[in-house]
Amino acid sequence: MTSLAHPPDQLQPTRSTPDPRSHLLDDTSLEAYRSGVADGVDRVARRIGAVDGPVTGASAAELGAVVAGIDLDRPLTPSAALDELDAIYLRDAVFFHHPRYLAHLNCPVVIPALVAETVLAAVNSSLDTVDQSMGATVIEQRLIAWTAGRIGLGEHADGVFTSGGTQSNLQALLIARERARTQTPAGTAPRRLRILASEVGHFSVVTAARLLGLGPGAVVPVACDADKRMRTDALARELRRAAARGETVMAVVATAGTTDFGSIDPLPQIADLCAATGAWLHVDAAYGCGLLVSTRRRGMLAGIERADSVTVDFHKSFFQPVSSSAVLVRDRAQLRHVTHHADYLNPARDAARPVRNQVDKSLATTRRFDALKLWLTLRTMGADGVGELFDAVVDLAAQAYQLLAADPRFEVATRPTLSTLVFRWAGPDERADAVTLHVREALFASGAAVVASTTVDGRHWLKFTVLNPRTSIEDIAEVLDLIADHARDHLARPAVLAS
Ligand SMILES: *Cc1c(COP(=O)(O)O)cnc(C)c1O
Repeated sequence: MTSLAHPPDQLQPTRSTPDPRSHLLDDTSLEAYRSGVADGVDRVARRIGAVDGPVTGASAAELGAVVAGIDLDRPLTPSAALDELDAIYLRDAVFFHHPRYLAHLNCPVVIPALVAETVLAAVNSSLDTVDQSMGATVIEQRLIAWTAGRIGLGEHADGVFTSGGTQSNLQALLIARERARTQTPAGTAPRRLRILASEVGHFSVVTAARLLGLGPGAVVPVACDADKRMRTDALARELRRAAARGETVMAVVATAGTTDFGSIDPLPQIADLCAATGAWLHVDAAYGCGLLVSTRRRGMLAGIERADSVTVDFHKSFFQPVSSSAVLVRDRAQLRHVTHHADYLNPARDAARPVRNQVDKSLATTRRFDALKLWLTLRTMGADGVGELFDAVVDLAAQAYQLLAADPRFEVATRPTLSTLVFRWAGPDERADAVTLHVREALFASGAAVVASTTVDGRHWLKFTVLNPRTSIEDIAEVLDLIADHARDHLARPAVLAS
């Protein structure tokens, strides 16, 4: 590709430029491979050793200007490129391993998974077909079976790794829609399809409905109780209403671990209602899936074994690097709804082979071997090791709740179920909203801590998402003091400036 910004003569490779083939990983470049990867790892290690906060407070716009000024047609040596990367990325990165990173559902990552990342990137298997992946396909299949076993989906379960909960939810709802369609007797007019999900369910359910062409209003929000769990009487009412309107409820989405509150919908009662009405039960356990390996809290997911499909995000609560997610179904035959046979890739005759091509079960074609990260994690730490880490953050959130509930400076929205806390400065609503927004920005800009914000009943609240087992209750107390300081500063400013 030529760029108009440079006259063609400047694009001629100079004599000093190494042969581009030397950058390919093969048996002639092993030294460059070893030292290149080691250099990259070393830069990360040095940064992690040096950071003293989760962020530096740098501005994204300023970094954007530096990045925009880089001439992509003038390559650097590997080491100079890493120096540059340190300046434009690593130095000001948001570090989730830092104990005062308390914002979103990002976990610190475990080392076995990082070792796996380097392995899977280098071998570059593609999980669409066995002839591009060999052992990788059977490893992924074993992990799907292991996850289904932990959930209790039964012997006919199957599934596939995906890029994240958004894709997992989309695939589950696509299958639910196809099932609903095939159940409509031939010759009858298609009925309007509805998805029932809690009012604090994840927005990816709405995105999926849109992608599936269900039309506006297809996702019906079901009211929650004070603990942000779906109310089963409200679900029963919505099921009756849909039936009375001649609509088909193609799926009920129960959330096991809502993004804001960590609340777990009452799965057994929801499963009863789905069984009684024939609705597909999808459980979005993107966040709550960590309980599958908890030695003390597995019971909180009771009822999940009755799901027709389940979303799990290993990159939320299994301490895995992004991306690592899976969608599972109770009845593997339902995966036929995403199967397409292409003669050049996965001809139908392959389906008779003992090991199935994973592309037959996936919305993606070329696909990373993300499963390897979970594999090496389980083979190194064991499931109990991962569960212990997740239990630790749930314990810490419970302790932090005690701290907050006893602190007159703050009010808390709900008692935590998992590891999030939604709280705000305890003052009159008009001021508390402005204080909340100010505090979050000011903390980020200071680099001392990162917290999230959300709205509850139209008002702004702060949110801690605790996913770091190294965060201590002292860290939490310190951040609360910082929040109180920023709130006081904001309140001390004249109202005209403060607004
Ligand atoms: C994060 C989340 C999702 C979306 O998952 P991604 O991996 O971010 O695509 C879906 N549902 C819930 C409850 C989540 O917390």
